[in-house]
Amino acid sequence: MTEPYLGNPARCAAVLYKYDFVFRKKFGQNFLIDEKVLTDTVKAAEITKDDFVLEIGPGIGTLTQYLAYSARKVCAVEIDRTLLPILDDTLKDFDNVTVLNEDILKTDIKALAEQENEGRPIKVAANLPYYITTPIIMGLFESGAPLDSITVMVQKEVAERMMTGPGSKAYGALSLAVQYYSKPRLAFNVSPASFVPQPKVASAVVCMTRHLKPPVTVTDEKFFFKVIRASFNERRKTLLNGLADFSEFHFTKPEIAEAISRCGFPPAVRGEALSLSDFAALAETLYSLYMVSS
Ligand code: SAM
Repeated sequence: MTEPYLGNPARCAAVLYKYDFVFRKKFGQNFLIDEKVLTDTVKAAEITKDDFVLEIGPGIGTLTQYLAYSARKVCAVEIDRTLLPILDDTLKDFDNVTVLNEDILKTDIKALAEQENEGRPIKVAANLPYYITTPIIMGLFESGAPLDSITVMVQKEVAERMMTGPGSKAYGALSLAVQYYSKPRLAFNVSPASFVPQPKVASAVVCMTRHLKPPVTVTDEKFFFKVIRASFNERRKTLLNGLADFSEFHFTKPEIAEAISRCGFPPAVRGEALSLSDFAALAETLYSLYMVSS
């Protein structure tokens, strides 16, 4: 197999020039032109020749080449069909890559893992389109697909949100969801100079290793995440008001106050002060008090 070469800025520029490629901002197109970032991403993802890798948004195939070189098989899902002839060209010497022209938010990832990897855990690696980072991450976790890990380039500020705990300004629904499903770690930071065109924000690569079993147990996951969303819906509000004002719930204020008190939280507590296990306790209390019919 050919060695990957597209991380070299001149080789990348030659491909863009050959195809007269026009970047589409609406698809979050910022392509990598930094060999070290590419090899370090593959290293962080711990890709081996046993692995099936799902790549989201291959662009002109830069990260794809590096993944294909290290993995057994790569499936790359790209929404922009103008990139397909380019990918045919840049990936022609990599016989273990399949490209799907699809929107990742509409892709059946579970079916893909079953068809392509006999239902065994897959690894996800990507330089994500930043405009849909959260729906992609949540979609992966909620897909029911067997996942081993997700290693992604995201906006640095989003990486902080994924990894932080109670009390921090960045703490919120994304932190709790990521930490419920996985153990996230910051692999490294990436400067705008590593991309073409350069994004306005700093970036970071985060590696999320899927928990075999979530660190907390809840009766109804959907209800648990609804409680979390309600608690952070309007950050200035107390937990009591946030839950009372959330349109998808119909609890009365005294009912919520009772649940908060049973959990031992102060009456005016805010969502940002509660840990993952605090949220699990609150969701379980609300659920057992008011959702289970006697
Ligand atoms: N992997 C390439 C690289 O690192 O140079 C490109 C990364 S670029 C930040 C994001 C890529 O995701 C673009 O190729 C874009 O067209 C693609 N993309 C955007 N929205 C998508 C979607 N909903 N489904 C699949 N791919 C998408």
